[in-house]
Amino acid sequence: MKVLEGKSPAAHETACLKPEVEKIKKHFGFPPGLAVILVGEDPASQIYVGRKIKACAEAGLQSWKKEFPSSVTLSELKSQIQEFNENPQVHGILVQLPLPPSLNSEEVLSYINPHKDPDGLTLENRALFWAGTPRVVPCTPFGIMKMLKFYDIPIEGRNAVVVGRSQIVGLPAAGQLLSHNATVTLCHSRTKNLMEHTSQADIVIACAGKRGLLGREDFKKGAVVVDVGIHRGDQGLEGDVKKEGLEDWLSGLTPVPGGVGPMTIAMLVANTVHLAGLSLTKSQ
Ligand code: NAD
Repeated sequence: MKVLEGKSPAAHETACLKPEVEKIKKHFGFPPGLAVILVGEDPASQIYVGRKIKACAEAGLQSWKKEFPSSVTLSELKSQIQEFNENPQVHGILVQLPLPPSLNSEEVLSYINPHKDPDGLTLENRALFWAGTPRVVPCTPFGIMKMLKFYDIPIEGRNAVVVGRSQIVGLPAAGQLLSHNATVTLCHSRTKNLMEHTSQADIVIACAGKRGLLGREDFKKGAVVVDVGIHRGDQGLEGDVKKEGLEDWLSGLTPVPGGVGPMTIAMLVANTVHLAGLSLTKSQ
Protein backbone atom coordinates (compact mmCIF):
# COMPACT_ATOMS: atom_id res chain seq x y z
CA MET A 1 0.00 0.00 0.00
CA LYS A 2 1.27 3.42 -0.95
CA VAL A 3 1.00 6.11 1.70
CA LEU A 4 -0.40 9.12 -0.14
CA GLU A 5 1.13 11.83 2.03
CA GLY A 6 0.03 15.40 1.43
CA LYS A 7 3.11 17.46 2.20
CA SER A 8 4.91 16.83 -1.13
CA PRO A 9 1.93 17.61 -3.40
CA ALA A 10 1.14 20.64 -1.20
CA ALA A 11 4.72 21.94 -1.58
CA HIS A 12 4.49 21.30 -5.33
CA GLU A 13 1.24 23.29 -5.62
CA THR A 14 2.67 26.17 -3.58
CA ALA A 15 5.85 26.28 -5.70
CA CYS A 16 3.71 26.48 -8.87
CA LEU A 17 2.08 29.67 -7.55
CA LYS A 18 5.31 31.69 -7.47
CA PRO A 19 5.15 33.27 -10.96
CA GLU A 20 1.49 34.29 -10.46
CA VAL A 21 2.25 35.78 -7.02
CA GLU A 22 5.10 37.80 -8.56
CA LYS A 23 2.91 38.97 -11.44
CA ILE A 24 0.19 40.18 -9.04
CA LYS A 25 2.73 41.91 -6.82
CA LYS A 26 4.21 43.71 -9.82
CA HIS A 27 0.83 44.84 -11.08
CA PHE A 28 -0.76 46.00 -7.81
CA GLY A 29 2.35 46.86 -5.81
CA PHE A 30 1.24 44.39 -3.11
CA PRO A 31 0.94 40.61 -3.02
CA PRO A 32 -2.30 38.58 -2.95
CA GLY A 33 -3.95 38.77 0.49
CA LEU A 34 -6.11 36.53 2.64
CA ALA A 35 -8.21 37.73 5.58
CA VAL A 36 -9.24 35.14 8.16
CA ILE A 37 -12.04 35.55 10.67
CA LEU A 38 -12.02 33.32 13.73
CA VAL A 39 -14.93 33.22 16.16
CA GLY A 40 -14.72 31.59 19.58
CA GLU A 41 -11.99 29.63 21.37
CA ASP A 42 -12.14 26.22 19.65
CA PRO A 43 -8.51 24.95 19.94
CA ALA A 44 -8.67 22.97 16.66
CA SER A 45 -9.91 26.05 14.75
CA GLN A 46 -7.11 28.11 16.30
CA ILE A 47 -4.54 25.57 15.06
CA TYR A 48 -6.02 25.52 11.53
CA VAL A 49 -6.09 29.31 11.33
CA GLY A 50 -2.46 29.47 12.51
CA ARG A 51 -1.48 27.01 9.74
CA LYS A 52 -3.35 29.00 7.12
CA ILE A 53 -1.62 32.24 8.11
CA LYS A 54 1.77 30.47 8.07
CA ALA A 55 1.09 28.95 4.63
CA CYS A 56 0.25 32.42 3.28
CA ALA A 57 3.56 33.81 4.55
CA GLU A 58 5.47 30.86 3.02
CA ALA A 59 3.86 31.47 -0.37
CA GLY A 60 4.56 35.24 -0.26
CA LEU A 61 0.97 36.33 0.48
CA GLN A 62 -0.09 38.88 3.07
CA SER A 63 -2.74 37.92 5.58
CA TRP A 64 -4.94 39.38 8.30
CA LYS A 65 -6.44 37.59 11.27
CA LYS A 66 -9.47 38.99 13.13
CA GLU A 67 -10.60 37.16 16.26
CA PHE A 68 -14.01 37.53 17.88
CA PRO A 69 -15.52 36.04 21.04
CA SER A 70 -18.43 33.55 20.67
CA SER A 71 -20.72 36.36 21.82
CA VAL A 72 -20.07 38.38 18.62
CA THR A 73 -23.24 39.54 16.86
CA LEU A 74 -24.16 39.04 13.21
CA SER A 75 -23.97 42.76 12.60
CA GLU A 76 -20.43 42.98 14.07
CA LEU A 77 -19.33 40.14 11.78
CA LYS A 78 -21.09 41.76 8.84
CA SER A 79 -19.27 45.05 9.29
CA GLN A 80 -15.90 43.25 9.60
CA ILE A 81 -16.58 41.27 6.42
CA GLN A 82 -17.70 44.43 4.61
CA GLU A 83 -14.47 46.14 5.63
CA PHE A 84 -12.52 43.28 4.05
CA ASN A 85 -14.84 43.29 0.99
CA GLU A 86 -13.89 46.93 0.43
CA ASN A 87 -10.15 46.53 1.07
CA PRO A 88 -8.43 46.21 -2.35
CA GLN A 89 -5.48 44.39 -0.75
CA VAL A 90 -7.77 41.56 0.41
CA HIS A 91 -8.47 38.99 -2.33
CA GLY A 92 -9.82 36.20 -0.13
CA ILE A 93 -11.96 36.21 3.02
CA LEU A 94 -12.20 33.04 5.04
CA VAL A 95 -14.59 32.56 7.94
CA GLN A 96 -13.26 29.60 9.91
CA LEU A 97 -16.00 26.99 10.35
CA PRO A 98 -17.74 25.72 12.36
CA LEU A 99 -19.16 28.90 13.86
CA PRO A 100 -20.70 28.77 17.35
CA PRO A 101 -24.29 27.44 17.16
CA SER A 102 -25.73 30.88 17.97
CA LEU A 103 -24.56 32.16 14.55
CA ASN A 104 -26.15 31.17 11.24
CA SER A 105 -23.22 30.16 8.99
CA GLU A 106 -25.19 30.55 5.75
CA GLU A 107 -26.03 34.12 6.68
CA VAL A 108 -22.46 34.97 7.69
CA LEU A 109 -21.09 33.48 4.46
CA SER A 110 -23.62 35.49 2.44
CA TYR A 111 -21.85 38.71 3.51
CA ILE A 112 -18.68 37.69 1.66
CA ASN A 113 -18.22 39.16 -1.81
CA PRO A 114 -18.28 36.01 -4.05
CA HIS A 115 -15.22 37.40 -5.88
CA LYS A 116 -13.35 37.13 -2.54
CA ASP A 117 -14.58 33.69 -1.48
CA PRO A 118 -11.65 31.22 -1.66
CA ASP A 119 -13.71 28.44 -0.03
CA GLY A 120 -16.34 28.64 -2.76
CA LEU A 121 -19.14 28.60 -0.19
CA THR A 122 -21.21 31.62 -1.23
CA LEU A 123 -24.41 30.82 -3.13
CA GLU A 124 -23.06 32.37 -6.32
CA ASN A 125 -19.90 30.27 -6.21
CA ARG A 126 -21.82 27.07 -5.43
CA ALA A 127 -24.08 27.78 -8.40
CA LEU A 128 -21.08 28.36 -10.68
CA PHE A 129 -19.50 25.14 -9.42
CA TRP A 130 -22.60 23.06 -10.20
CA ALA A 131 -23.05 24.80 -13.54
CA GLY A 132 -19.66 23.34 -14.48
CA THR A 133 -17.97 26.78 -14.61
CA PRO A 134 -16.42 27.10 -11.13
CA ARG A 135 -14.86 30.38 -10.05
CA VAL A 136 -13.11 28.36 -7.35
CA VAL A 137 -13.32 24.71 -6.33
CA PRO A 138 -13.78 24.30 -2.54
CA CYS A 139 -10.36 23.75 -0.96
CA THR A 140 -10.64 20.19 0.40
CA PRO A 141 -12.14 18.57 -2.74
CA PHE A 142 -9.73 20.60 -4.88
CA GLY A 143 -6.83 19.32 -2.78
CA ILE A 144 -8.08 15.73 -3.05
CA MET A 145 -8.20 15.94 -6.85
CA LYS A 146 -4.72 17.49 -7.04
CA MET A 147 -3.45 14.74 -4.76
CA LEU A 148 -4.93 11.95 -6.88
CA LYS A 149 -3.32 13.57 -9.93
CA PHE A 150 0.05 13.95 -8.16
CA TYR A 151 0.06 10.22 -7.38
CA ASP A 152 -1.11 9.27 -10.92
CA ILE A 153 -4.30 7.67 -9.70
CA PRO A 154 -6.70 7.30 -12.62
CA ILE A 155 -10.23 8.62 -12.09
CA GLU A 156 -12.00 8.39 -15.44
CA GLY A 157 -14.38 5.45 -15.70
CA ARG A 158 -13.71 4.29 -12.14
CA ASN A 159 -16.25 3.72 -9.40
CA ALA A 160 -15.90 6.36 -6.70
CA VAL A 161 -17.85 6.40 -3.45
CA VAL A 162 -18.00 9.55 -1.32
CA VAL A 163 -19.12 8.98 2.27
CA GLY A 164 -20.48 12.34 3.48
CA ARG A 165 -22.47 15.04 1.70
CA SER A 166 -21.53 18.32 3.40
CA GLN A 167 -21.46 21.51 1.33
CA ILE A 168 -17.78 21.99 2.15
CA VAL A 169 -16.38 18.50 1.51
CA GLY A 170 -18.58 15.56 0.42
CA LEU A 171 -20.93 17.19 -2.06
CA PRO A 172 -18.28 19.16 -3.99
CA ALA A 173 -15.93 16.12 -3.85
CA ALA A 174 -18.64 14.11 -5.62
CA GLY A 175 -19.02 16.93 -8.15
CA GLN A 176 -15.28 17.00 -8.81
CA LEU A 177 -15.05 13.24 -9.28
CA LEU A 178 -18.02 13.38 -11.64
CA SER A 179 -16.45 16.17 -13.67
CA HIS A 180 -13.36 13.96 -13.99
CA ASN A 181 -15.59 11.22 -15.40
CA ALA A 182 -15.77 8.82 -12.46
CA THR A 183 -19.02 6.98 -11.79
CA VAL A 184 -19.97 8.45 -8.45
CA THR A 185 -22.07 7.20 -5.54
CA LEU A 186 -22.75 9.70 -2.77
CA CYS A 187 -23.45 8.07 0.59
CA HIS A 188 -24.60 9.80 3.77
CA SER A 189 -25.99 9.22 7.24
CA ARG A 190 -29.26 7.77 5.89
CA THR A 191 -27.58 5.40 3.42
CA LYS A 192 -28.64 1.81 4.01
CA ASN A 193 -25.90 -0.80 4.01
CA LEU A 194 -22.94 1.52 3.47
CA MET A 195 -20.57 -1.41 2.98
CA GLU A 196 -22.49 -2.58 -0.08
CA HIS A 197 -21.46 0.66 -1.77
CA THR A 198 -17.93 1.18 -0.44
CA SER A 199 -16.92 -2.42 -1.20
CA GLN A 200 -17.59 -1.82 -4.93
CA ALA A 201 -15.45 1.30 -5.09
CA ASP A 202 -12.07 1.83 -6.76
CA ILE A 203 -11.81 5.15 -4.91
CA VAL A 204 -13.40 5.93 -1.53
CA ILE A 205 -13.51 9.44 -0.09
CA ALA A 206 -14.20 9.05 3.64
CA CYS A 207 -15.61 12.35 4.90
CA ALA A 208 -18.37 11.42 7.34
CA GLY A 209 -16.60 12.90 10.36
CA LYS A 210 -17.02 9.60 12.26
CA ARG A 211 -13.90 8.18 13.86
CA GLY A 212 -13.04 4.72 12.48
CA LEU A 213 -16.31 4.42 10.51
CA LEU A 214 -14.65 2.42 7.73
CA GLY A 215 -12.16 -0.46 7.85
CA ARG A 216 -10.64 -3.25 5.78
CA GLU A 217 -13.93 -5.15 5.47
CA ASP A 218 -15.57 -2.12 3.82
CA PHE A 219 -13.06 -1.82 0.98
CA LYS A 220 -12.41 -3.73 -2.22
CA LYS A 221 -8.87 -5.13 -2.48
CA GLY A 222 -6.65 -2.63 -4.31
CA ALA A 223 -8.89 0.38 -3.65
CA VAL A 224 -7.54 3.89 -3.06
CA VAL A 225 -8.91 5.51 0.09
CA VAL A 226 -8.80 9.22 0.89
CA ASP A 227 -9.36 9.77 4.61
CA VAL A 228 -10.66 13.29 5.19
CA GLY A 229 -11.86 12.86 8.78
CA ILE A 230 -9.98 14.50 11.64
CA HIS A 231 -10.56 13.38 15.23
CA ARG A 232 -8.51 14.36 18.23
CA GLY A 233 -8.12 11.64 20.85
CA ASP A 234 -5.70 10.11 23.33
CA GLN A 235 -3.78 8.54 20.43
CA GLY A 236 -3.35 11.92 18.67
CA LEU A 237 -5.12 12.62 15.39
CA GLU A 238 -7.18 9.89 13.75
CA GLY A 239 -9.38 9.73 10.67
CA ASP A 240 -12.62 8.10 9.55
CA VAL A 241 -10.66 4.97 8.56
CA LYS A 242 -9.37 2.22 10.87
CA LYS A 243 -5.77 1.49 9.88
CA GLU A 244 -5.58 -2.17 10.96
CA GLY A 245 -5.10 -4.70 8.13
CA LEU A 246 -4.96 -2.14 5.34
CA GLU A 247 -1.26 -2.46 4.47
CA ASP A 248 -1.69 -5.58 2.28
CA TRP A 249 -5.23 -4.71 1.18
CA LEU A 250 -5.41 -1.17 -0.25
CA SER A 251 -3.30 0.22 -3.07
CA GLY A 252 -3.23 3.70 -1.53
CA LEU A 253 -4.31 5.54 1.62
CA THR A 254 -3.93 9.15 2.77
CA PRO A 255 -2.55 9.37 6.32
CA VAL A 256 -4.11 11.35 9.18
CA PRO A 257 -2.40 13.66 9.98
CA GLY A 258 -0.31 14.71 6.97
CA GLY A 259 -2.68 13.71 4.16
CA VAL A 260 -5.64 15.80 3.04
CA GLY A 261 -4.99 18.53 5.66
CA PRO A 262 -1.86 20.07 4.07
CA MET A 263 -3.55 19.92 0.66
CA THR A 264 -6.60 21.80 1.91
CA ILE A 265 -4.37 24.60 3.18
CA ALA A 266 -2.31 24.69 -0.02
CA MET A 267 -5.51 25.01 -2.07
CA LEU A 268 -6.76 27.84 0.13
CA VAL A 269 -3.60 29.73 -0.77
CA ALA A 270 -3.97 28.71 -4.43
CA ASN A 271 -7.60 29.86 -4.55
CA THR A 272 -6.68 33.22 -3.00
CA VAL A 273 -3.96 33.72 -5.62
CA HIS A 274 -6.43 32.66 -8.32
CA LEU A 275 -9.01 35.22 -7.12
CA ALA A 276 -6.30 37.91 -7.04
CA GLY A 277 -5.43 36.93 -10.62
CA LEU A 278 -9.08 37.27 -11.66
CA SER A 279 -9.29 40.73 -10.08
CA LEU A 280 -6.13 41.70 -11.98
CA THR A 281 -7.70 40.61 -15.28
CA LYS A 282 -10.76 42.73 -14.47
CA SER A 283 -8.62 45.77 -13.61
CA GLN A 284 -6.67 45.63 -16.91
P1 NAD B 1 -20.25 17.33 8.38
O1 NAD B 1 -20.60 16.86 9.73
O2 NAD B 1 -20.74 18.65 7.89
O3 NAD B 1 -20.76 16.25 7.32
C1 NAD B 1 -20.63 14.88 7.55
C2 NAD B 1 -21.39 14.12 6.49
O4 NAD B 1 -21.21 12.73 6.73
C3 NAD B 1 -22.88 14.37 6.45
O5 NAD B 1 -23.27 14.62 5.12
C4 NAD B 1 -23.52 13.07 6.95
O6 NAD B 1 -24.70 12.73 6.24
C5 NAD B 1 -22.43 12.04 6.68
N1 NAD B 1 -22.43 10.98 7.68
C6 NAD B 1 -22.41 11.11 9.03
N2 NAD B 1 -22.43 9.91 9.61
C7 NAD B 1 -22.45 9.00 8.62
C8 NAD B 1 -22.47 7.58 8.62
N3 NAD B 1 -22.47 6.86 9.74
N4 NAD B 1 -22.48 6.96 7.41
C9 NAD B 1 -22.47 7.68 6.28
N5 NAD B 1 -22.44 9.03 6.23
C10 NAD B 1 -22.43 9.68 7.39
O7 NAD B 1 -18.68 17.25 8.29
P2 NAD B 1 -17.62 17.92 7.25
O8 NAD B 1 -17.45 19.36 7.53
O9 NAD B 1 -17.92 17.49 5.87
O10 NAD B 1 -16.28 17.19 7.75
C11 NAD B 1 -16.16 15.79 7.72
C12 NAD B 1 -14.87 15.39 8.39
O11 NAD B 1 -13.78 15.89 7.63
C13 NAD B 1 -14.68 15.94 9.81
O12 NAD B 1 -13.99 14.96 10.58
C14 NAD B 1 -13.82 17.15 9.59
O13 NAD B 1 -13.04 17.47 10.72
C15 NAD B 1 -12.95 16.68 8.47
N6 NAD B 1 -12.40 17.74 7.61
C16 NAD B 1 -11.11 17.64 7.28
C17 NAD B 1 -10.55 18.56 6.42
C18 NAD B 1 -9.11 18.41 6.06
O14 NAD B 1 -8.55 19.34 5.51
N7 NAD B 1 -8.48 17.28 6.32
C19 NAD B 1 -11.31 19.61 5.90
C20 NAD B 1 -12.65 19.67 6.24
C21 NAD B 1 -13.21 18.72 7.08
